[in-house]
Amino acid sequence: MSTEISPFDQPKYVMLKPAGAACNLRCDYCYYLEKKHLYAESRRHIMSEETLEKFVEQYMALTAGPSVLFTWHGGEPLMRPLSFYRKALALQEKYAGGRQVDNIIQTNATLITDEWARFFKKNNFLVGVSVDGTEEMHDAYRPTAQGRPSWQQVMRGIRTLNRHGVEWNAMATVNHINAGAPADFYGFFKEIGCRYIQFTPVVERIYRRPDGRHLASPVDGAWAELAPFSVTPQQWGEFLCGVFDCWVREDVGSTFVQIFDATLAGWIGVPPSLCAMSPTCGHAAAMEAGGDVYVCDHYVFPEFKLGNIATRPLTEMMYSPEMTEFGLNKQRLLTAQCRECPYLFACHGECPRNRFAVSDDGERGHNYLCAGYRRYFAHVSRYMDFMKYQLQHKQPPAAVMDWIKAGEPDYRHPAR
Ligand code: SF4
Ligand code: SF4
Repeated sequence: MSTEISPFDQPKYVMLKPAGAACNLRCDYCYYLEKKHLYAESRRHIMSEETLEKFVEQYMALTAGPSVLFTWHGGEPLMRPLSFYRKALALQEKYAGGRQVDNIIQTNATLITDEWARFFKKNNFLVGVSVDGTEEMHDAYRPTAQGRPSWQQVMRGIRTLNRHGVEWNAMATVNHINAGAPADFYGFFKEIGCRYIQFTPVVERIYRRPDGRHLASPVDGAWAELAPFSVTPQQWGEFLCGVFDCWVREDVGSTFVQIFDATLAGWIGVPPSLCAMSPTCGHAAAMEAGGDVYVCDHYVFPEFKLGNIATRPLTEMMYSPEMTEFGLNKQRLLTAQCRECPYLFACHGECPRNRFAVSDDGERGHNYLCAGYRRYFAHVSRYMDFMKYQLQHKQPPAAVMDWIKAGEPDYRHPAR
């Protein structure tokens, strides 16, 4: 009997790129800016109302269940005017059939005005803000298109969101510079009152192409050179351990760090909220402004295109043999080292886009960040075990903080 977990078992999502790759910033490690070269024939590659309506109608048909989640992404989605999103909301209402519709928008926050914030508040948008820590950390790699620092503008955007009571969370990339200061990095988010943080490792390889793109696709050869801003496996492991040590002593239950939540989910055997820690891929596609659909936001390369919603229905694409194959390959193409790894149940070989390294026994296709993950999982194991025990006994995992203060006594065989 097959032990594969099918991508069919999970709900399907499609992330939208209403402004394509257009952005007012020029972050050095952005994986999306260069996608404009895929659409070089159109001077302004933005989503038309016709494509938007087609998408909304087809997406509603794709999504079963009582609520539907729209994710607006970029480039910078605020490069589109408010009128575009007002139109989107009207279309959502038209096609929702009475179902609840939720919206998430991922932004660099530099373009947020009172008007945007009022709109987000009124329509219950969850805003994801890309910010890479303190001014010094952030400005190391995130200049504006004019080459100026952007951190002050980001913070002004965050203050505007706070003033209007908009719900927001932080998406922070961990790169070669900020990885070295986990406590300061994490402390920054606590200081600004952020209670939900996603940390994403920056891993890119340089692979120059004639069309102007310069980043390697996940299937490009092992010879593509690692970009200098990439985090090293050792840095990533130390970073996760450093942030975890702060979090597990003070903030369990009050600050949510996505990768720690996903790790605990793996420990207790429930699906994690982080695709990188899921057994399969193939449940979250990305749609470019002109309607082209790709298997994943990180696989927007011609060889991973499923089709265009003008000519192929979204449901057909999302359940196509190509998408299923892509999803299952995460599991099928694990190296022997991963298959035998004691942390496979929580890691699942992480994101396939990072599988360009060689395993300890010389097998190609191993995850570049593996050594960092092994370090992290070994470090958090006993705390995860404790929190799992708590959950199994219907007790709050946050008790881990008191357990640490008490010197980590034996909780499975307590002294009588
Ligand atoms: S390829 Fe990576 S980012 Fe895409 S769905 Fe799979 S794990 Fe997630
Ligand atoms: S920690 Fe390394 S060996 Fe273990 S599953 Fe993750 S990538 Fe594979």
